[in-house]
Amino acid sequence: MTTFTNFRFDVDGDGIALATWDTPDRSMNVITPEVMEELAHLVDTVAVDEAIKGCVITSGKDAFSGGADLTMLQGLSAQYAKLAKEKGEEEAMSFFYEESRKLSLLYRRLETCGKPFAAAVHGVCLGGAFELALACHFRVLSDADATRVGLPEIKVGLFPGAGGTQRVARLMQTGDALQMLFKGEQIRSLMARNMGLAHAVAPRDQIVQAAKDWIKQGGSAVASWDQKGFKLPSNKVYSAAGMQIWPAANAIYRRETQDNYPAAYAILEAVYQGLQLPMDLALKVESRWFAKILRSKEAAAMIRTLFISMQELNKGARRPKDVPQTKLKKVGVVGAGFMGASVAYVTANAGFEVVLVDRDVEAAEKGKAHSHKLMSDQIMKGRAKTADRDELLARITASADYADLYDCDLVIEAVFEDPKVKAEVVQKVEAVIRLDCIFASNTSTLPISGLAKNSKNPVQFIGIHFFSPVEKMMLVEVIMGKETGDKALATALDYVRAIKKTPIVVNDSRGFFANRCVLAYILEGHLMFVEGVPPAMIENAGKQAGMPVGPLSLNDEVGVDLGLKILKATKAQLGDAAIVPEQEQLLARLVEQEGRQGRKNRKGFYDYPEAGPKRLWPGLTALQPKHLEAEFLDMQELKRRLLVTQALEAARTVEEGVITDPREADVGSILGFGFAPFTGGALSYIDFMGAKNFVALCKELQAKHGDRFAPPRILHEMAASGETFYGRAKDKKAA
Ligand code: NAD
Repeated sequence: MTTFTNFRFDVDGDGIALATWDTPDRSMNVITPEVMEELAHLVDTVAVDEAIKGCVITSGKDAFSGGADLTMLQGLSAQYAKLAKEKGEEEAMSFFYEESRKLSLLYRRLETCGKPFAAAVHGVCLGGAFELALACHFRVLSDADATRVGLPEIKVGLFPGAGGTQRVARLMQTGDALQMLFKGEQIRSLMARNMGLAHAVAPRDQIVQAAKDWIKQGGSAVASWDQKGFKLPSNKVYSAAGMQIWPAANAIYRRETQDNYPAAYAILEAVYQGLQLPMDLALKVESRWFAKILRSKEAAAMIRTLFISMQELNKGARRPKDVPQTKLKKVGVVGAGFMGASVAYVTANAGFEVVLVDRDVEAAEKGKAHSHKLMSDQIMKGRAKTADRDELLARITASADYADLYDCDLVIEAVFEDPKVKAEVVQKVEAVIRLDCIFASNTSTLPISGLAKNSKNPVQFIGIHFFSPVEKMMLVEVIMGKETGDKALATALDYVRAIKKTPIVVNDSRGFFANRCVLAYILEGHLMFVEGVPPAMIENAGKQAGMPVGPLSLNDEVGVDLGLKILKATKAQLGDAAIVPEQEQLLARLVEQEGRQGRKNRKGFYDYPEAGPKRLWPGLTALQPKHLEAEFLDMQELKRRLLVTQALEAARTVEEGVITDPREADVGSILGFGFAPFTGGALSYIDFMGAKNFVALCKELQAKHGDRFAPPRILHEMAASGETFYGRAKDKKAA
């Protein structure tokens, strides 16, 4: 009998093989070179053994598989670079092309080996793993909530290069296929079946049987696209129907990507070209695009930040190693307002007991009601049961009595942003909690070291800074005060991990990390406005640069009045030179004279009508001291200004020691404020451009637009030495 390491392989009395993928010592099945080798062997075994009728592939774990090991792809790029140096570009490229299409050829071999293959999928089945399922002739998914299929490669700057683009585009209407490939979303079972991605849905304990039954009943070993007379779901590319699709697809691609994502462009091309060819040639076309994209700097940057670094941070890269795992059971949340209510929800949702305290019981109950509402929404969507809501609510105790916090392991305060109120809360909480309880503040502007002065125990005092909306935003900034100790840090990181968010550890500074960069972005938008750039052009420059929203729109979301408040507080504390007077004048005019506070009162840079989309307020032009003609403005320069100003601020946080690890600035900038993801983050933006080029660009902008673009010392040094942020971090670690 054939034996494998990554698969259990059994053949039943009917001659149907069951390959159970279950890599030892790993919590998740991942496609590695060894798995590929064994799978190839497995396909050969099934193909040649006459006693075997067909094969079902399933997983022995709680999930099917997360897909290919991306570090394997990273390794391939390194091999390419080495080979290019030694033997030249052509040889390196040919090696790279052949290597990068191995998985695609393996799946094609499975699909055409003459025996029927069926995939029985429970749990997540993503990327290369879903491409394996797509190459099987039959797919049955479990009906469990945990089951999700999808091709999320685009999220790390890649695209499905093992047949995914071609098979998906032959299973469904072209428009739907492109949407699916562009979005990279995880799809639940029933939806997947309705989309044509799966043939059947069954309870978990019946999927293998369902797959075997399909083979027993004579399931075909020839994919529909390999059969004579196969018709594409949207008809031929060059047909009347095809002509309906492609012009629109091009437009949607441009709108969604601003042409910043070569992988999205490659999807468009691979599908367009591939649909005009038989499968083997179509796969070849896909492979060519895949090899090209795999070598793109966007893929390198996105894989590093959004896959590797993010995973490392999630797994506790910054956690002090010698502090034993904390055993958090009960978490106190003080202040049940906008933020506190949501923090209570995400905490209870992770299974913790929560004590939610506000000034009176009504306010605390109102905060708890937020969890009721969120769970009810989940129930409406069929994603939770009434019992789940009851259990979650039972874990939250709403109270006005601080004494109820006595047995908490961690207390997070989210009361008013007022140092006096916060000071009082620290004292009231510390009067009742155990000595080993960690105290965290969710302040967004007050330095942690200052707040910690009110504490008897500053070693146990830390910042846990959430972003709004808490339920959606994946980033949490953990702020170290001057005296914060390792146990507080470990506790905060264990907590953030438990609520399934990504932490970055930041040293205390005004605005910490994310808000500093965000404010620089908004400031640049305001200054463009004052210069006379048409507001619509400012907004478009932001979006074309890769930001999720333009700077004026972002200011509306945050609150124009809050922006003014922060400016005034900064000026009061640091003096006139700490702010830009034109910005203060603009915001004061908007808030104090025009009553425009932002989205919250439906009046900001935009108007927010009850019905219909928001639109730029027509009164804005009257607020501009002068007006520049759009056709004489350089859009490229506007885009660069908006990214450079944020990257510069990120570099300053490194120079000041606020950020100590480039991974955190990169992950934090993308998750925290959507910094153009294709760059790999605010520091990768500089690294990939090269410090020398970046400094030259800054100097050019400085000459034209002022000293806010003056590159800090650290960048001059890096430009001179040819260093990168990641290179410096590596050297520091090694030293
Ligand atoms: P909020 O006004 O909505 O809520 C504050 C709550 O604290 C209110 O319910 C109030 O009754 C309660 N409170 C005030 N004094 C109290 C006391 N002595 N004891 C108990 N409860 C008390 O404010 P928010 O927007 O939720 O902000 C709370 C904190 O979170 C602030 O420090 C803010 O800087 C920070 N923050 C806010 C955001 C945001 O987007 N709003 C983002 C990150 C951090």
